[in-house]
Amino acid sequence: MKTFKHSLILILLSLCCITGVQAQTKVIAHRGFWKTEGSAQNSITALQKAAEADVYGSEFDVQLTSDGVVVVNHDDAIHGIVIGNTPYEKLKNITISNGEKLPTLEDYLKAGKKLDVQLILEIKPHKTKEIEDQAVETIVRMVKKYKLTKKVEYISFSLNICEQLAKLTPKSEIAYLNGDISPKELKSKGINGIDYHFNVLYKHPEWIEEAHNAKMKVNTWTVDNDKDMQRLIDMKVDYLTTDEPLKAKKLTNK
Ligand code: MG
Repeated sequence: MKTFKHSLILILLSLCCITGVQAQTKVIAHRGFWKTEGSAQNSITALQKAAEADVYGSEFDVQLTSDGVVVVNHDDAIHGIVIGNTPYEKLKNITISNGEKLPTLEDYLKAGKKLDVQLILEIKPHKTKEIEDQAVETIVRMVKKYKLTKKVEYISFSLNICEQLAKLTPKSEIAYLNGDISPKELKSKGINGIDYHFNVLYKHPEWIEEAHNAKMKVNTWTVDNDKDMQRLIDMKVDYLTTDEPLKAKKLTNK
């Protein structure tokens, strides 16, 4: 009888945990919290402001220079200079719109290590599989060096990059962005999350439950208006990626 009671309590507790985890949608600041004084997309300030805004995560984009340095920038070119064709030496003094120097991944990890915010690291697709594999190897090595494996979560539009991540850092959170593969199929490749445009989730609402049943996380981008935010919260996504983190926080904390 006692064992039965214990089991019942355990079952109830687990149910509460499961419901609790799924009910709470968390907020990720897209390219950091950049729509605020002194900030800029993918700047160290944007990362710090995201932590100050007390969101779950701060997203940023990385890519390799021609000599294998990982820098933080969204577009493949900065001030007309193509990052993948240029050695770091020629990029290091470039300033971004808030006056900061173009950050490297190393700068970002050092700053992020001190902050209470998850680092949502997007690896941009590169020109060839070889360069993508080199990018993943360099990035995972650096994340391990700074002992940030639990604090860094990976996302990419490149299926190859996600597959390489699954091989090199299988316990990490890895989500695919491109919206064209079902959760089940990704899971069979060792990829444990989807991060799809909200229109994809509107078209395939069943993928949210499919992902959750496979113990995968569901993230969605880039959700900036209240109506979509509320609809996706009601659909029980785990994360909302947004350029309006304060607005999203209000809706998720209701
Ligand atoms: Mg991004």
